[in-house]
Amino acid sequence: MNNSEFDSQHIWHPYTSLTSPLPVYSVKRAEGVFLELEDGRRLVDGMSSWWACIHGYNVPELNSAAQNQLQDMAHVMFGGITHQPAIDLCRKLVDITPEGLDRVFLADSGSVAVEVALKMAIQYWHSKGTPRNRFLTIRKGYHGDTFGAMSVCDPQGGMHELYQGFLPEHLFAEAPQCKPQDDWQEEDIADFARQLAEHQHEIAAVILEPIVQGAGGMRFYHPQYLRRVRELCDEYQILLIADEIATGFGRTGKMFACEWAGITPDIMCIGKALTGGYMTLSATLTTEKVATTICEGKAGVLMHGPTFMGNPLACAVANASLDLLLNSPWQQRVSQIEHQLNEELSVYRQHPAVADVRVLGAIGVVETKTPVNMAELQAIFVEQGVWIRPFGRLIYIMPPFVMSSAELSLLTKAIGVGLNTMIMTMT
Ligand SMILES: *Cc1c(COP(=O)(O)O)cnc(C)c1O
Repeated sequence: MNNSEFDSQHIWHPYTSLTSPLPVYSVKRAEGVFLELEDGRRLVDGMSSWWACIHGYNVPELNSAAQNQLQDMAHVMFGGITHQPAIDLCRKLVDITPEGLDRVFLADSGSVAVEVALKMAIQYWHSKGTPRNRFLTIRKGYHGDTFGAMSVCDPQGGMHELYQGFLPEHLFAEAPQCKPQDDWQEEDIADFARQLAEHQHEIAAVILEPIVQGAGGMRFYHPQYLRRVRELCDEYQILLIADEIATGFGRTGKMFACEWAGITPDIMCIGKALTGGYMTLSATLTTEKVATTICEGKAGVLMHGPTFMGNPLACAVANASLDLLLNSPWQQRVSQIEHQLNEELSVYRQHPAVADVRVLGAIGVVETKTPVNMAELQAIFVEQGVWIRPFGRLIYIMPPFVMSSAELSLLTKAIGVGLNTMIMTMT
């Protein structure tokens, strides 16, 4: 059995079937903005490995951070032990996240950071002597694949019926319709406001992705929506959890998307680009008030502690990644990418296969009228020398910030080629 046969029969890839597997491409190495396939072809990467590799691949500064840390220790337990890489990282995170978020829990993946956020909210109310365990969120959201996280994902996209009876049932407000560039319509928040008022005594927290709804539909919404959510949560004294796992670390043009609305959530989740895409690491930050309330409650502690918590290797790389980001002209780079995406993707607005084109920061989205044939379109993109992974009706790119304008043009041109073949197969 050759590698490709073994892979297709024995190895699950994200959201795939082992009985009718889709083709996979074997990557031998990656450097800068290029993925190099086993057969020698080099592809310009439009995905940043799902938001994570903001500096590209094989980054000298991150390689040496990992190598240096290996000389000291790859891992040590975090129970009863602390270490410099974790302390340095938490200092930096407190420093760059919105004012007031200064208590940090290090976790191992985005989904786990969300689980920890939900636990914090539940423990907060438990400590106050008025237990609450319901969450209000907005439709079209995505918060991860573990059960708690899944229970606050979009009920349709998140396939809640599959796990019915096991998943807790939360509250879903209509997804925001007002786009960032639209005039704000107060009506947009009405359903959210109504549900919050109606269930104010049951809701532990509101959880949402600020400004950009990622895997649930790649939708961008008006900052005033987020500001109103903050105001309403304050009014009813309900906690606000911002899931910045996709949006964090500059992707939208601000360090964190909450900055578009000038708000501080009570709890914030980060992950994905935290280590520049080198290793899995995430964090859940909260305020002194929430942390104190939790710790003065009956449980006395925050009830969570992963085996690989605060992994030194991951923390060291995260430190190097943050230094690299903060010492780079990232705002300028993201705004150049935004400008170019606007120029080069907006022509597709007239394309017969296209329903919508939208750009925010270093995120470009082409929404098609009909669902794409992922395998077919992926093959066309690879032929064009680019790596873009579409899903549903979405062809989207979020390139590494270090991408040159010529490389970015290869991505936007390839999308045009892909759209043309969609029209050919439609007729
Ligand atoms: C990817 C993502 C998660 C889940 O992170 P994993 O590391 O895949 O567990 C949660 N929330 C948002 C907004 C994400 O984009």
